[in-house]
Amino acid sequence: MDQTVKENLKRIFGFSQFRGNQEPIVDNVLRGNNTFVIMPTGAGKSLCYQLPAVIQDGTAIVISPLIALMKNQVDQLNAFGINAHFLNSTLNKTETNKVKKEVLSGKTKLLYVAPESLTKEENVLFLKDAKLSFVAIDEAHCISEWGHDFRPEYRKIKTIIAQIGSNLPIVALTATATPKVQQDIQRNLQMEEADLFKSSFNRTNLYYEVRPKVKNETKKQIIKYIKSQKGKSGIIYCLSRKKVEEIANLLKVNGIKAAPYHAGLEQNVRVKNQDDFLNEEVDVIVATIAFGMGIDKPDVRYVIHYDVPKSLEGYYQETGRAGRDGLEGHCLMFYKYDDIVKLEKFNKDKPVTERENAKILLQEMAAYAESSICRRKFLLHYFGEMLEDDCGHCDNCKKPKEKFDGIEHLTAV
Ligand code: ADP
Ligand code: MG
Repeated sequence: MDQTVKENLKRIFGFSQFRGNQEPIVDNVLRGNNTFVIMPTGAGKSLCYQLPAVIQDGTAIVISPLIALMKNQVDQLNAFGINAHFLNSTLNKTETNKVKKEVLSGKTKLLYVAPESLTKEENVLFLKDAKLSFVAIDEAHCISEWGHDFRPEYRKIKTIIAQIGSNLPIVALTATATPKVQQDIQRNLQMEEADLFKSSFNRTNLYYEVRPKVKNETKKQIIKYIKSQKGKSGIIYCLSRKKVEEIANLLKVNGIKAAPYHAGLEQNVRVKNQDDFLNEEVDVIVATIAFGMGIDKPDVRYVIHYDVPKSLEGYYQETGRAGRDGLEGHCLMFYKYDDIVKLEKFNKDKPVTERENAKILLQEMAAYAESSICRRKFLLHYFGEMLEDDCGHCDNCKKPKEKFDGIEHLTAV
């Protein structure tokens, strides 16, 4: 590969090596090809469009669903000395015009756009006038109704791109594509012919375990477990804000340094609790799924699910926050079928397709929790990946279920 690309990697981002598939992906984007990237969270997808955007002439449009993270990403790029901006509903008229002027002047390398801003007519007209290099669609699974995070606005992206410039290359990126979601994305973006780069989702350093959730018993187990992990960092995920508060208090009463995190807390409290966790003032953060996006703490040693997640995508992403440094990470989930039923009830007011899709995701989750086969095999298969041998690093491999058959269970009771 062109030596200058690697030089740019070093010079601009300060990284001396590409990670995983990054190099062939960057190369492919630079050739102007449609590119489909499937890579786990934290693997480094952003660089796959940021580096080519900086190298190429013109502005790359980056479509990203989370307005809250956009400013952060742009700030980071600016800190590297890259001219990047964003367009979303948080900007007022004057700020918007300033950004547009910058882009039209040709200096801007990356423009982050929220999907609802992209579909505005005035923005379509503006983008038609700009000199663009390519369009990156981050979190591309939002396109698919089969996915766990469907955003209707995402389904309009392709039409808008066609209006802006019919030959603009597209780079779609996601961490959560099951084969079904993958097909749906490619069909919707009309990029069945795109070059596909799919990395392995196997996180070999993570140990997966599921325990039955038993009234009174589970809380005691959690306290005991955390005390055995003294001084190490962990995350406990709960479904509701109320449960988060309850568990956080329970831990504190038991002498554990814990803090709650959910969207119902005041912004300053939320930020403080998050910082305390990152700075290791507290060992455990008890949180709803609001916690974790964009957070990069490499030495989280365990992730506990007090409640079952709504999908295996969610489970994979949340457990994936353990062991980012490549060292051990324990993923412990407490499960009872009643929780699945409870989650299904939450969906009862949703439109029928959405409800049916949510139900399928939940049933897959239940199947995983109740399965006696190697957890890793199950999880990877869900993401369309084959694991030849049992992993030897999950509860089902370590303690095969046959040993706990009904008869033994009866005599034990
Ligand atoms: P993803 O979008 O796949 O979840 P990010 O793009 O946010 O992941 O990258 C995760 C982290 O990895 C970031 O802190 C990023 O700076 C870092 N990173 C990406 N590429 C490299 C690389 N080649 N060398 C070292 N660190 C990298
Ligand atoms: Mg990302």
